[in-house]
Amino acid sequence: MEDKHHLIYYPDSILRKKAESVDSINPLLINFINRMKEVCAEKKGLGIAAPQVNESVSIFVTPMIGTHIKTKDPIYAKNFEDWTVVINPKIVRYSQEYVGYEEGCLSLPKLYSTVFRPKAIDVVYQDINLKTQSKVLTHWFARLFLHEYDHLHGILFTDYLLGKISNGTVQDVPFEEKLKIQKKLNDFELEARGST
Ligand SMILES: [Zn+2]
Repeated sequence: MEDKHHLIYYPDSILRKKAESVDSINPLLINFINRMKEVCAEKKGLGIAAPQVNESVSIFVTPMIGTHIKTKDPIYAKNFEDWTVVINPKIVRYSQEYVGYEEGCLSLPKLYSTVFRPKAIDVVYQDINLKTQSKVLTHWFARLFLHEYDHLHGILFTDYLLGKISNGTVQDVPFEEKLKIQKKLNDFELEARGST
């Protein structure tokens, strides 16, 4: 039997669904979280959200640790146990200041573009023991958190660039850049149609 839990690519509809919140941890869910880490590590991702591994639940994982440290550079976990697991995330405050940085997504391979996002956020989430964590995030971790949080709400980073939604700032994306992104999305859609 083929494992259902593999990397999901655009335009799969699960990437557009709002994820269900998690109210208890059980062995099946632990297995799934471990699978998320495997898929993310295999693809050398900085983070992965549950819908990208074919389950519409409110979880994301990242090899980045030290979320409380306001460093500009990400710090990576040496082994799977040390990864950061984020369950039922909420963003309670966004900074007024925005920063632009190049982003990509495992579900949209080889597509990179600059996205403007709040520089800092205050977040609340539950860890793997369902213990509530409150943190102030900046730099890399803020960007990652916002990107993965979006996945749990059916939002992809390209939505901002194509003006489909706003994240609170006006980002001027050059016409040629929009065209490049739209063409890439069309290619993914054609490819998906061809393979079914
Ligand atoms: Zn992504």
